[in-house]
Amino acid sequence: MMLNASSRFDEHGNLINTRGSVLNITARKRAEQARNKLIKELEAKHKELESVLYAASHDLKSPLVNIQGFGHELSQSCNLLRSALVGKKKSDNIEKAVDIALNKDIPDALDFILTSTTKMDSLLSGLLDVCRLNTAAVKIGPIDMNEMMADVAASIEYQVANAGATVEVEQLPPCLGDPSQINRVFTNLLTNALKFLSPCRPGRISIRAASRVSQSVYCVEDNGIGIAPEHLDKIFEIFYQLDPEGRRGEGIGLAIVKRIIDRHNGRVWAESRAGEGSKFFVALPGA
Ligand code: ADP
Repeated sequence: MMLNASSRFDEHGNLINTRGSVLNITARKRAEQARNKLIKELEAKHKELESVLYAASHDLKSPLVNIQGFGHELSQSCNLLRSALVGKKKSDNIEKAVDIALNKDIPDALDFILTSTTKMDSLLSGLLDVCRLNTAAVKIGPIDMNEMMADVAASIEYQVANAGATVEVEQLPPCLGDPSQINRVFTNLLTNALKFLSPCRPGRISIRAASRVSQSVYCVEDNGIGIAPEHLDKIFEIFYQLDPEGRRGEGIGLAIVKRIIDRHNGRVWAESRAGEGSKFFVALPGA
């Protein structure tokens, strides 16, 4: 409500009358709120698009440079081989050139080319995956998280055994979400927990949850290598990796997790101590 009032007084300061008007501005306020929400959403989308575009053009460049560089090397080796063989009997020199080209340079170059194209292929697949998530329908329904987590844990049983780790799942409250997308979220978080275990101690992963007002908050905790505080916000950005040379992934998993949880109006965040382990929290609407 907006209240407007004005009073009239005579020359002695006595009140003559007061006029007022009351305006119902609920609709205006609602429209303003809706507009602000839209502006915020647009800004967030714009930012997201910018960083995806940047990361795509930046990160796809380095495998491409490798392909070009080693492609040239390969063609030079072939030239060398060809000119060495033209109309000549094989001398020791030719033997040597053929040997270097055929047994070292060409296989090495091809190896780099193949590694780079494989990398590029998975980067592109990941990028497409992220883009597809924006258009995929979200079919929200109640999810029995005990059942779901049992499925997720079963699907990674082999990797868990291989890593000599243990996974402990407590009783979990239900939530509202798209079952296949939420399954993907926890599969990514558990796979990461396994991937980044510490070689210094047996791996322990635990999954627990708490019910808050209209929300279920799940936590995936590991005792792995941990994440330094300055990286904690960035790990949810696409292609962000603490150790890109470690070749343990593509830096896409957590971007997918965040996108799915955002589309569920939920929240995902991480707490960690480098060298000690990490906790990933996921808050979803309660069922
Ligand atoms: P990927 O695992 O493919 O590298 P993600 O997007 O899943 O990509 O994760 C981004 C980065 O966040 C990882 O490269 C790693 O450095 C860090 N990270 C994710 N989960 C964990 C974890 N449980 N423990 C330590 N570091 C992690």
